[in-house]
Amino acid sequence: MKFVSTRSAEIENNASCAIVKGLAEDGGLFVPQFFPDLSGDIDKLCEMDYAERAAYIIGKFLDEYQTQELLDACKAAYGRFEDGDPAPTVKISDDLFVLELFHGPTLAFKDIALTLLPFLLRNGADRIGVKEEILILVATSGDTGKAALEGFKDQKGIKINVFYPSDGVSDMQKLQMRSQKGENVNVVGIKGNFDDCQTAVKKMFSDRRLKTLLANKNVVLSSANSISFGRLVPQVVYYFSAYCDLLTAGEIEKNEKINFTVPTGNFGNILAGYYAKKMGLPVNKLICASNSNNVLTEFFTTGTYDTDREFYTTMSPSMDILISSNLERLIFELSGRDHKLTEKRMSELKETGRYEISAEELSKLRADFDAGYCDEEECREEIFEIFEEYGYLADPHTAVALKVCQDLSYGTKTVVLSTASPYKFTQNVLSAISGKHVKDAFSAAEVLEEETAAPIPKQISDLRTAAVRFDAVIDKNSTEEVVLKFVSEK
Ligand SMILES: *Cc1c(COP(=O)(O)O)cnc(C)c1O
Repeated sequence: MKFVSTRSAEIENNASCAIVKGLAEDGGLFVPQFFPDLSGDIDKLCEMDYAERAAYIIGKFLDEYQTQELLDACKAAYGRFEDGDPAPTVKISDDLFVLELFHGPTLAFKDIALTLLPFLLRNGADRIGVKEEILILVATSGDTGKAALEGFKDQKGIKINVFYPSDGVSDMQKLQMRSQKGENVNVVGIKGNFDDCQTAVKKMFSDRRLKTLLANKNVVLSSANSISFGRLVPQVVYYFSAYCDLLTAGEIEKNEKINFTVPTGNFGNILAGYYAKKMGLPVNKLICASNSNNVLTEFFTTGTYDTDREFYTTMSPSMDILISSNLERLIFELSGRDHKLTEKRMSELKETGRYEISAEELSKLRADFDAGYCDEEECREEIFEIFEEYGYLADPHTAVALKVCQDLSYGTKTVVLSTASPYKFTQNVLSAISGKHVKDAFSAAEVLEEETAAPIPKQISDLRTAAVRFDAVIDKNSTEEVVLKFVSEK
């Protein structure tokens, strides 16, 4: 399988190359040349465990990776999750299920891709003969940073530098990153929001001067952000896996079409669901759930993507995004894989902050997707109600999806993707459940445990005594300096 850039047909790479580069030379995103058809493989997948399903599905795209090596890597990655199951489904009611993706090392769904990405990257880099040190630059809205740090810490020949918005992540998320262990890691706060971090990182990727300076130090750049195909492909797996699990449990009939509702930020998670549908998974609608930063809701309703709007800092910070990078992959498909048109729209976005798709594209879009949003007050109410009614404790991101799902699922069986543990957002979850306002994140965790009987995860209790190693906060224009200094350290 080859991978092409969304912005030009001439760029064609094998999987290893696409994963190591992260972003194509023309600034476009790598997409597979075609979507393998797995519609006849559902029964077979039902017989497998999660790691086997992962190796099977990922192997369809990354066919140059050795089958046994890939399977071993999936077993090792997914063995790090609680009970060895990275994606259990929980039944809430007869037509509502929650797919819990937060039982990994850092308590967010990012772990599913980032426990496997180090293998995909190292193995791919070795295959294409990369001899340089690999420097991974990450912009994070809170969860990617920690999951990438855990995945790549102390990996030979790799360094990782994470940039997070210093006032745009929760206390627990910040502490998770600032206390990161490992000799090859760096964590830096940026004065600004996630879009500032993402823009700074993207800029470094297309900065020739920086690349030359790094090359002189024998360093090449790579990405662990969801623009990397290596992040996307492991996420396709849990859509198939959830479907198989519901089928096996007798909750759905063979070939029954179901909805997935996805709390969305950078559009990586839900895009993987769209890929699964294109590969033959019986999906009715993919429901895109946003918080008050509802640029996607508007786009899915009107066909105009417009970033000229107020930016809100919410209690679901991993969705506080106005420029959803992975949307480029969707509009590329909607345009009938028109590289030129995608290129044009992306430069319009860069220059004017907006672009439009045609009425025909919009109707294609609406055949596969629906979209809605939920404001802060509704999110709080949803956390309260879902706990009162079903005893289910949801984090704010999951609550946004649960609320939007109720508004839009129209009686079709729906799987809501749960993307983080409520213990990453203790103060907000506690106050939604009980009305109690506790300022300190750990004290809030204790009260939350008492109130709900949901046990505090070890990853959270361990944080309490963890030493802060990284407390730098910099201006968004100083990222290059930081990176050059970091690669010069031994
Ligand atoms: C990253 C993240 C999201 C958004 O996922 P995208 O792939 O960026 O759309 C939602 N919830 C949580 C908890 C996250 O960490």
